[in-house]
Amino acid sequence: MNNQPKPGSPIIPRNKADPTQSYRAVNRMYRDIEQRYYDIKVALKQLFDMRLTGRERASNSMYGYILARNGNQPDMLYRVNAGTYIYDMTAAQLADLLQAVQVILDDHLLDGGSQNLWAFDYVAEEYQRGTLNAYTNLSVQSPIYASQTTLQQLLSTPAYQNQVASAFVSTYSDWKGISDTARVDLANVIADSIGRGVNPRETASIISKRLDVSMSKAKNIAQTEQVGALREANWNETEWSADRLGLNTGLLHLSALKPTTRQTHAFWHGKVRTVQEVRAWYAVDGNKYHCYCGQIPTLLNDDGSIFNEGLTDKLAKERKQWKLAETA
Ligand SMILES: [Zn+2]
Repeated sequence: MNNQPKPGSPIIPRNKADPTQSYRAVNRMYRDIEQRYYDIKVALKQLFDMRLTGRERASNSMYGYILARNGNQPDMLYRVNAGTYIYDMTAAQLADLLQAVQVILDDHLLDGGSQNLWAFDYVAEEYQRGTLNAYTNLSVQSPIYASQTTLQQLLSTPAYQNQVASAFVSTYSDWKGISDTARVDLANVIADSIGRGVNPRETASIISKRLDVSMSKAKNIAQTEQVGALREANWNETEWSADRLGLNTGLLHLSALKPTTRQTHAFWHGKVRTVQEVRAWYAVDGNKYHCYCGQIPTLLNDDGSIFNEGLTDKLAKERKQWKLAETA
């Protein structure tokens, strides 16, 4: 029998629909992305007004379609009036134009470059927020942790700095991918339009729609990057604190339990896994995309259960209720 006080409970976020509490941060990055795509559209319009020149043809137009490929999503067909316009552009001018399109995309989507990309601030902030989250949680649960850890110290460790730097590398590569994919997509549309005599106005309208498709992919990736950084920080501190202080820690899974939540994500709501298990789970089946689940660093009993049985029961009840609503 020991006389030690019972450890405090892990902190369960108040907004149940947003276990990572990242709605505001994600939204802020969305606004930034929207502004960037708006600026791209404005710059492309100026470019096309200047360079997509030729003359209208009097003859009757023929309906045709322009095919746009969407990567792993279904391809899109756009109905156009073909044969209505004759462009007076040489192959070299077309190559020049496509080069200018790439510069515009890169200027806005790769702003800051690989060393200082505009998106890094958002990722770094989530990393810090995740570390604060882990620190706060482990502090209320473990007096040993609380007495031996400061946030300042966590944020200044080389391990922390390395993790952030490595998150930057993959963030840059994500945005490079978005910019490259958009360039290939727009180049196909432009070349197709010129080849088939689709007038500049219709061409511009398809380009605008294609940029909207690119933007929605960009937002998905941004959400994945931000929440991914927050999770990673929580996982790392859970692991590192176990190494440092010999604590028995795990991750308590909280699902957003939305109507759109995957069964396989809701399944884990209220259950505890090791950091290793959670990492492996996120690495497969596209689990990391569109995921709003959070993992709370949690102090465990020797048998791997959490101290607060009431909490386990309450979360199990929430999971069952969600399942009932699902099948209703
Ligand atoms: Zn999830």
